[in-house]
Amino acid sequence: MTSLHPVIATPGGAAQARAWSNHALLLLRREAARSADTHLLHLDIPAFRDIRLYFKDESSHPTGSLKHRLARSLFLYALCNGRLQAGQAVVDASSGSTAISEAWFARMLGLHFIAVMPACTAPRKIADVQALGGQCDLVDDPADVHARAAWHAARGACHLDQFGLAERATDWRGNNNIAESILGQLEQEADREPEWIVCGAGTGGTSATIGRYVRYRGLRTRLCVAEPTGGAFAQGWRSGDRAARASRPTVIEGIGRSGVEPGFLFDIVDDVIEVPDEASIAAAWELERLFGRRYGGSSGTNLVACLQLAARMHARGQRGSIVSLLCDRGERYDGTLFNPDWLRSRQLDIAPWSAALEATLADGRWYDVAPG
Ligand SMILES: *Cc1c(COP(=O)(O)O)cnc(C)c1O
Repeated sequence: MTSLHPVIATPGGAAQARAWSNHALLLLRREAARSADTHLLHLDIPAFRDIRLYFKDESSHPTGSLKHRLARSLFLYALCNGRLQAGQAVVDASSGSTAISEAWFARMLGLHFIAVMPACTAPRKIADVQALGGQCDLVDDPADVHARAAWHAARGACHLDQFGLAERATDWRGNNNIAESILGQLEQEADREPEWIVCGAGTGGTSATIGRYVRYRGLRTRLCVAEPTGGAFAQGWRSGDRAARASRPTVIEGIGRSGVEPGFLFDIVDDVIEVPDEASIAAAWELERLFGRRYGGSSGTNLVACLQLAARMHARGQRGSIVSLLCDRGERYDGTLFNPDWLRSRQLDIAPWSAALEATLADGRWYDVAPG
């Protein structure tokens, strides 16, 4: 873009600040231009003859998860709101994929990044953030992470605020957001207007973007949130109560929040499917068999919800497509979800669910497993 505007005299400081901000925006545009879009993988399951399943592989971002998109959006949002200046530290409360993606972008922009994490966070994750030049500020009580991030912000850091801003930081009308990208990639397919798009809810950013975009485009596509059993999104969506709390914890990272996050938009979600942790983990193992590589637990949660929806359509003789996401790389879970000893120590028996999912893949019918 060339500027035809006359240069208006501004105090030197403001002009300098704008020059840095413009440079930071240029770096973010360059990063986006260098990046390829993520693959939309087709999963061919003969038992679902008339139902096409697609999975958007968000693990192929440079930082390994769908949080790459969110981090990029949060930095853009902070810059365009004039909240981020040269030399300013950047802070967020995150012990997971978000901290890794934010640390990566902060390093690219030459900014100091602080991730506020519970002290119980796995050492591996702390090391991942540190390897990208980030600082981990560990707090004893996990409930204190937001207050601690606000404390850093009060001392001058820019709070990226994933949970507060995920729902609005992404341009919901397009700009190659995840929904626009999916629909573009489906253009040559037989059923290019999906029956369902399935995703999880952590910050709620992905579900908000997809739900708004399919309405904006005037599609009949419905949005289903795949949620660990008893999670706050499910509780709040059913009751309409934003004070709802999760009825049980989950081991699936990235989703299954204990409370209703600011970015949880209930009105644009057509269905919520609750998935037991054992089923999500069994499905994560199944994904490795289907795609030849490992994805994380929340991708397994998505697969379970997709198979349940596909079986429903199959039973009614409907045809169409279902799209979901592969949210992050599975290697991060080698020591946990993919480790039989770890599963045993948590009394997570995935065998009944593995058998049930295999049966569904074989005959297209849904098989439930009674809670152990
Ligand atoms: C954040 C996250 C999600 C959920 O995405 P949101 O857009 O935050 O709702 C799902 N899976 C993983 C691995 C995540 O890190």
